[in-house]
Amino acid sequence: MSTISTFRRFASLVTAVIGLLVLSETATAADRIKVLIVDGQNNHNWKATTPILKEFLEKSGRFTVDVATTPPNKQPAEAWDNFRPKFSDYGAVLSNYNGELWPAPVQRSLEAYVAGGGGLVIVHAANNAFPEWEQFNKMIGLGWRGASYGNRITLDRAGKVVETAKGEGPGAGHGSQHDFSIVVRDRENPVMQGIPAEWMHAKDELYHGQRGPAESMHILATAFSDKRTGGTDAHEPMVWWIPYGKGKVFTTLMGHSEHSMHCVGFQTIVERGTEWVATGKVTIPVPARFPSPTEVLTTESK
Ligand code: ZN
Repeated sequence: MSTISTFRRFASLVTAVIGLLVLSETATAADRIKVLIVDGQNNHNWKATTPILKEFLEKSGRFTVDVATTPPNKQPAEAWDNFRPKFSDYGAVLSNYNGELWPAPVQRSLEAYVAGGGGLVIVHAANNAFPEWEQFNKMIGLGWRGASYGNRITLDRAGKVVETAKGEGPGAGHGSQHDFSIVVRDRENPVMQGIPAEWMHAKDELYHGQRGPAESMHILATAFSDKRTGGTDAHEPMVWWIPYGKGKVFTTLMGHSEHSMHCVGFQTIVERGTEWVATGKVTIPVPARFPSPTEVLTTESK
């Protein structure tokens, strides 16, 4: 065989391999789940946390992420005229928003999106938003509200659900920020399969006394709210999901600060929860290095 024909064969092989690579790259991109993060108002540093959420979701290789930012607060009503996110373009919507009530058409659009099979993910203070929006409260089950707003749900040590009636017991709050242990309560749920039964979450606010309609809540994980850190002496729900029409709503109360969001456990839960509400399946693996029952692991410390 001449050198030239060997070269030609080699060249055509290279072309074929490049073609395959391009093809598989395109196929992968098409398989990615489109996620929309909504932010723009929050009593937390959303300008710092949205990029963290976007970065780790995209780094998983499973998502492409867009961001819809609302107008700042106290604007004239017209400022909201252009805020009409097209939720139906997305596999999942993640709320990093805690602010003014959205215009009615946007509320109806989110309700129709989730009821029609869309996925909604609520991170930390996003459950503080919208006490006056009835359907939103059904979606989240429990929100940051006063004790008179609705029922409270906790678990006892054995994992049994304890319901505290409206008006009784503490309303929403949290003690001092600290590292705390997350206890998985449903190891069969696809999001939780393979996640250690107990692991140490990086310093965060441990919300307690959340209130709401709490219908059809599936509690996936809890944290013990210790009186020594200003807590309630109860196992407070930290991660749960609720069916809404054909869709699913996944809530994590973790995620107060940038540091809390660097927790490998937090990131894994948000990635897998987002994939699950979007597709009904979880393919994102649990990282080999994960927080242990006693040691925090963050992407800062890795
Ligand atoms: Zn917070």
